[in-house]
Amino acid sequence: MSLESVWNNCLNFIKDNIQDQAYKTWFEPIQPVKLDDNVLSIQVPSKFFYEWLEEHYVKLLKIALNKELGKDAKLVYVIKMENSFGSTKSFTEKIPSDYKPKVESQKVEGSSSYFKTELTNPFVIPGIKNLKIDSQLNPNYNFNNFLEGDSNRLARSAGYAVSNRPGGTSFNPLLIFGGVGLGKTHLANAIGINIKQKFPDKTVLYISAEKFTQQYIESVKKNNRNDFIHFYQLIDVLIIDDVQFFSGKSGTQDVFFHIFNHLHQNGKQLVLTSDKAPVDMQEIEQRLLSRFKWGLSAELQTPDYETRISIVKNKLNRDGVEMDEEIIFYVAKHIKTNVRELEGAIISLMAQSSFNRKNITIDLAKVIVEKFVKNTKKEISIDHIQKVVSDYFQMDVSTLQSKTRKRHIVQARQLAMFFSKKFTKASLASIGTKIGHRDHATVLHACKTVDNLAFTDKQFRKYVEDLNKKFSD
Ligand code: ADP
Ligand code: MG
Repeated sequence: MSLESVWNNCLNFIKDNIQDQAYKTWFEPIQPVKLDDNVLSIQVPSKFFYEWLEEHYVKLLKIALNKELGKDAKLVYVIKMENSFGSTKSFTEKIPSDYKPKVESQKVEGSSSYFKTELTNPFVIPGIKNLKIDSQLNPNYNFNNFLEGDSNRLARSAGYAVSNRPGGTSFNPLLIFGGVGLGKTHLANAIGINIKQKFPDKTVLYISAEKFTQQYIESVKKNNRNDFIHFYQLIDVLIIDDVQFFSGKSGTQDVFFHIFNHLHQNGKQLVLTSDKAPVDMQEIEQRLLSRFKWGLSAELQTPDYETRISIVKNKLNRDGVEMDEEIIFYVAKHIKTNVRELEGAIISLMAQSSFNRKNITIDLAKVIVEKFVKNTKKEISIDHIQKVVSDYFQMDVSTLQSKTRKRHIVQARQLAMFFSKKFTKASLASIGTKIGHRDHATVLHACKTVDNLAFTDKQFRKYVEDLNKKFSD
């Protein structure tokens, strides 16, 4: 009886008795290392892995082993430790485990201080018996109060579809992108909450990319990167907010890449949010970017007037506050860049009126809206930029957008693209779409050309300066 044949027979037996996915996750990574009489040693990738096996598959392992090696069979786990740089294996630690009924349910005897160290992830309540993961979802952000409009219809319905069949749609990953305050975090939470309601057994985790990064760094410091990875590989629905935060952080990107692959391969759902479309993300590795595009990228745009009105009404309704329609229309009309500001204006309106015991009047609304609008005045729209540039060169906006290669028109168009990049938060792709349906590469090229020409061509520099002044007034 060789080591390999014993272990292979065990595996065949185990394979027949558990789900394919579980087999792949928990048994394929195991290496048989030694066979001494009736003692089989197997190497597992981490302490966490070992604990998981003991917790969930100890009976199965025991039966398999008894069949192969008789009823006195014993199993020894060897835990493979990686050092913090993940290159060489620094040491191994052996934990004996035997199968006398008493020992079975207990953590392994003689396991020493090793098991007193806590698991890395703060969301795991330590102790194997109650491996519970707090989803970290915000219950205030659900589908009911995420109002639908043209600006969010695609993202919202994709999110809804995903929550009906997590991992089962082609929207995997689902990447929700859009500017600040447009509802990315809200929608991402709504998806998680809906899944939790429909599938209470699924492990859902919401985490910001920033927190994920901190945890990862911590795990490297504490020498338990593997535990970190295994923890994340257990999640059924992983929601990571603001993945643009991974920019330039290659270690975190690397570890996320592996987690992503594992989850995706196993049919688990990934939901990501970002303030940019994948094409505009910078300092994110290509292999990750290409995976972001595997599923669906859905944009949250700025809500139109009707949607803004319904968002305001809904908020007032929930807070039990009444307000004249005139005032609602006024606020919705003037605050248009993002939903957070819209809510902010309504909140200060309510606060002002209750502090001063005044009714909410249109005059009060004007004062407050003024404050909000002033703060956001810097945000010029792409349409406005096209208009100003066209006027300056005395042409129509449609000429500026046309396919012609006439030099002065091309230059006007490139200037419009350049200023859109400079003064708006729009992505290269959406600037291109708005300025005559060009792609992001064209916009990028335009920005570079303007930079160069402003440097080398005196006349052109004058255009840039004049226009700059117009936008800064
Ligand atoms: P982001 O994460 O994109 O910066 P948030 O999800 O934090 O934006 O949204 C900002 C605020 O606007 C939140 O209070 C959120 O509830 C609200 N909000 C955004 N979109 C909607 C919507 N469609 N319906 C209702 N509230 C919304
Ligand atoms: Mg957010």
